[in-house]
Amino acid sequence: MKRFQVITLFPEMFTGVFGSSMMWKAQKDGIVTLETIDLREFGLGPRKQVDDTPYGGGDGMLLMIEPLWKAVMQAKANDPSAKVLLMTPRGERWRQALAQQHSESDSGYIFICGRYEGYDERILELVDEEVSVGDYVLTGGELPAMTIVDSIVRLLPGVLGGAASAEIESFSDGETLEFPQYTRPEEFQGLKVPEVLLSGHHGEIAKWRHEQSIKAGDEKYRQN
Ligand code: SAM
Repeated sequence: MKRFQVITLFPEMFTGVFGSSMMWKAQKDGIVTLETIDLREFGLGPRKQVDDTPYGGGDGMLLMIEPLWKAVMQAKANDPSAKVLLMTPRGERWRQALAQQHSESDSGYIFICGRYEGYDERILELVDEEVSVGDYVLTGGELPAMTIVDSIVRLLPGVLGGAASAEIESFSDGETLEFPQYTRPEEFQGLKVPEVLLSGHHGEIAKWRHEQSIKAGDEKYRQN
């Protein structure tokens, strides 16, 4: 069973995401365990301090090395072969190919969620990969960790309903995006489902979908 451990100051943020839909089902079916490790428990002194001001000056606070280090050590003791992923805007931008690659690996994962202005850089000694969810700055690493866990877990065998579900999705071949889809009714407020999808001609439908996928991919990559 694949084990995901998330080190965070805000474990309560994960309750809804880990407790719903496919993430909940993957745990219920024994495919994964999704856990949080409360960084506060490793805080220093009676106030359980986890952050301090940066050497050299500057705005904001940083997560201190000692609580973070101890939390990672505990996670590694739970799962010695787990890979440590640090959430950081500086990291490699997450994409479907990475989700696929990680879903095929046997190892578990330890996620480190930064907060405030970030973390003491020495934590990199324990980190295998630095990962970003995009070129923008969020308040903390929790949303990135949720995004990445979700993108890996849904690709694990047995999680999605139909085996084909993930194969025909956007990015699954590295370029094209999913074609437009419609369900009942055939017409809604004058908006019609494309004729070809109602034709029953499987060849024509497949051709239309293929063209639409390529078009969607072209349009997206032209924007970027
Ligand atoms: N001072 C940092 C900087 O300028 O890069 C930003 C710190 S951010 C407010 C706090 C934490 O949120 C980061 O340490 C990181 O863990 C997480 N974070 C923010 N944006 C992220 C992104 N795009 N991808 C991954 N993690 C992110």
